This record gives sequence, C-alpha cells and structure tokens, in this order.
Amino acid sequence: MKRWICLLLAAVLALSLTACGAPKTEALDIFAMDTYMSLVAVGDGAFDVLQRSSNEINTLEQKLSRTIATSDVAQLNANGSTVLDEGTAELLRRALRYSEETGGAFDVTIAPLVELWGITTDHPRVPAREEIDALLPLVGTEHVHAAGTEASLDEGCAIDLGGIAKGYASDCVAALFAASGITGGFASLGGNVYVHGDTADGQPWKVAIQDPQKTDAFACTLHLSDAFVVTSGGYQRNFTGPDGTVYQHIIDPATGYPAVSDLLSVSVITYGAADGQGTRADAYSTALYVMGEEAAVDFWRARQASFDMVLVTEDGRVLYTPGLKDCFDETEGSGYVYQPLAA
Ligand code: ADP
Ligand code: MG
Repeated sequence: MKRWICLLLAAVLALSLTACGAPKTEALDIFAMDTYMSLVAVGDGAFDVLQRSSNEINTLEQKLSRTIATSDVAQLNANGSTVLDEGTAELLRRALRYSEETGGAFDVTIAPLVELWGITTDHPRVPAREEIDALLPLVGTEHVHAAGTEASLDEGCAIDLGGIAKGYASDCVAALFAASGITGGFASLGGNVYVHGDTADGQPWKVAIQDPQKTDAFACTLHLSDAFVVTSGGYQRNFTGPDGTVYQHIIDPATGYPAVSDLLSVSVITYGAADGQGTRADAYSTALYVMGEEAAVDFWRARQASFDMVLVTEDGRVLYTPGLKDCFDETEGSGYVYQPLAA
C-alpha cells in the first residue's frame, strides 16, 4: 500500500513538474466565416496573439464575405465595380491566377451558380437545367477586370471568395504567429489548419484528417510543424434533393452542377508561413476535388516538389504523396487501403 502511495506521489510530482516547466498554452474558440474555429498558442504572448488573430479573422470576414452587404465582395457584386481594400485586391489577383493554374477547376466567378443552388443556405434547391445553362456563360475569369485596387465585373457576373478566404485567413494568422514570441500554435479554421512551431512538449503537432465517411473518426494523422493542411470534400456542406441525390457545395465550373468527384476528400499540405501557402493550399484543395483522382495526381506530379496531398477515394483508398512518408500515420481498423503515390 505504502509503495502505491509513493508511486502515486511520484506520478503527481512528475505531472506538476511538467505543468510548471511547460510553456503556457492558451486556447480560443470562435465562430467566424460560417464555421467553428479553434486557435491555440504556446509560450510568451500566447493570449495576446490569439486575440489579435481572432480580430484579424473577423475583420477579414467583413471584407471577404459574399453575404455581408458592406463587404468588398458584396459591393463589387452589387455595383459591378468598386475600389477594394489592398488585401482583398491582392487576394482577388491570386484567385484569378489559381483559376488559370487549375484550368478553371477553381474559379471565383462561380458565384451566380453558388447563389442559384443555395447549397449552404437554409433554402437549397435543384435548379432546372435551363437556369444553370443561362448562368454558365457568366463563369470565367475573363469577366473580372482588376487593376491595382480597382475591380469591375461584366454585367451579371459575381465573385465568391469562399473557396479561398479561410486559407487567406490562415496566412494572416501564420504571419501574426511568426511575429509573436510564441514557440508553437495552431489555427483550425473549418478545414483549414495551420501548425506553427512545436507543442508545449516540444513535439510536432498532430493533424488528424477526418474520415469523410464517419464523424469523429480519422482517415489518417500527420505530424507537422510550420505547415498548412487544407481539406475540401463533399461530406460536410451538402443537401439531399427530392430524389435522394446528395448535392455538395463545390460546383464544377464546367457543368454548373455540384462536382461529381471520385474523391471523398482532398487534403493539400503546403509548407512555410511566408508567402501565401495557406491561400494556395485552399485554392488547390477545392480545385483538386473538382478534378478527381486522375487529374489531381497529374496536377501534383507536375509540381510535386512544392506540395503534398492526401486523397480519400470513393472506393476506399487513402493515397498520399511520398513527401509525407515520415510524418504519416495510418488509422488502424479504418477499413481504408493506404497507398503512397509514386513520384
Ligand atoms: P470550405 O469552404 O468548406 O472549406 P472549399 O475551400 O472547398 O470548402 O470552398 C468551397 C466554397 O467555395 C463553396 O462553398 C463556394 O462558396 C465556393 N466554390 C464552390 N465551387 C467553387 C469552385 N469550383 N471554385 C472556387 N470556389 C468555389
Ligand atoms: Mg478551398
């Protein structure tokens, strides 16, 4: 009995030493950009940097939301032209570049169709083919004219930065983290994760990629520092039509219909806090979902040194790029077949 008490005391002592010795960890949960977000920071100035990050995310939402009437985006859509905030103008320019790079799979001029389907609203509906066909000519980056901070749209066109805004927000949080005194932190912005430095125990962060077929289960786990992990999929935001068809929120700009993908989810991993890698990962993840497995793998092969990805396929495979091999953990008993992609 005495030995047990000694052991117990030793354990308590060990725990309290870890607690005293470990740098201070602060956490903040917010709701912004139509999703729940969690922020964590470790070390000096942790509380302060989380507050500044939260303020920044709220400010960005006010500028980038399609549904807040006073935002840059809503003003541009309503008036056909406007002067944008410097940051919004830069984000729009980058969005246009990603459209070009992804062959139009990512396209912010998808807005009229996003509006028509209303998938993320309280009143989604399946439009008639004629309604979709009438709007398709409005989709295409040639309808956006941007010079400096001035932007205008062709008649009837509109933009939606929803496929890239959280990635941009994660870049802004990464910059705040980097400029602070913290030793580690993470920002989980509804499918857009950024991990900075180390955990309080001096380890890389564990980023779990959700199993698209089971809530509260993971398809795999990655151990990362200073990286963005952005996941797009059809499993979270969708609605079921009158005939039982499930329509999800990523629209294929080529058809005007919600993308019919052979992928259940796409996670794109990019590295380094400095040059917009969160925005890039967000644009790519949306685009690669639209492209489907074969085109997504081709896209990665063409620029493989610069990003990693995890694809969960409809037929039960988890494909991952070789750059992840040392930080990738399979989930035992998940039922998936794990396949590293050949370079
Ligand atoms: P989430 O917003 O759930 O993180 P994504 O980053 O993939 O997911 O973005 C999906 C959102 O982007 C949609 O809700 C819509 O606002 C917009 N969108 C839909 N289809 C496209 C597309 N093909 N290209 C660019 N944006 C899109
Ligand atoms: Mg995206």
